[in-house]
Amino acid sequence: EIFKEVQLESLLEEVELLITPRLVGENVHFEKDIQICTLVCYEEGLKQVLVNLLNNAIDAVQVRTVKMIGVKSIVSDGTLFLSVENNGEMIPPEIVESLFHPFFTTKQNGTGIGLSICKNIIEKHKGTIQCESNEHRTRFLVSLPIEPVME
Ligand code: ADP
Ligand code: MG
Repeated sequence: EIFKEVQLESLLEEVELLITPRLVGENVHFEKDIQICTLVCYEEGLKQVLVNLLNNAIDAVQVRTVKMIGVKSIVSDGTLFLSVENNGEMIPPEIVESLFHPFFTTKQNGTGIGLSICKNIIEKHKGTIQCESNEHRTRFLVSLPIEPVME
């Protein structure tokens, strides 16, 4: 069984270690506002989701003089709501639908597979992922059942 009990706090610490070189090297401020919990999940998969979302967030703030990204979490009703946010430019509404499609990219050297992998992993957890973007901020919101019922 690859699903097991994981502390959100330690998972986030490992993820933070992986992105620290970019945060430091590119002068990106990282904000964390976490309600901790224990969840049953595929740990490596969920780490990959967060690293993908955070790397995208770091890519997106390059246009700003003050570069800010963040992770937030709240637990409610057996569901973990996790969001990864940044203060980059608004994603045009007409492309928001396409972001999760495999190979969709707007980057010179992008592969376009990051978000499609994220969506796959989240759906294995019976969760959802969506994007909200306005001119001040972009947010990827993940919701995950704390104890997914697998068939
Ligand atoms: P890649 O990063 O290789 O382009 P992804 O699947 O990770 O592939 O992302 C697909 C596209 O979604 C990106 O090229 C970009 O246009 C858009 N995108 C993803 N995350 C963000 C973000 N935080 N802010 C703005 N655009 C984003
Ligand atoms: Mg990416």
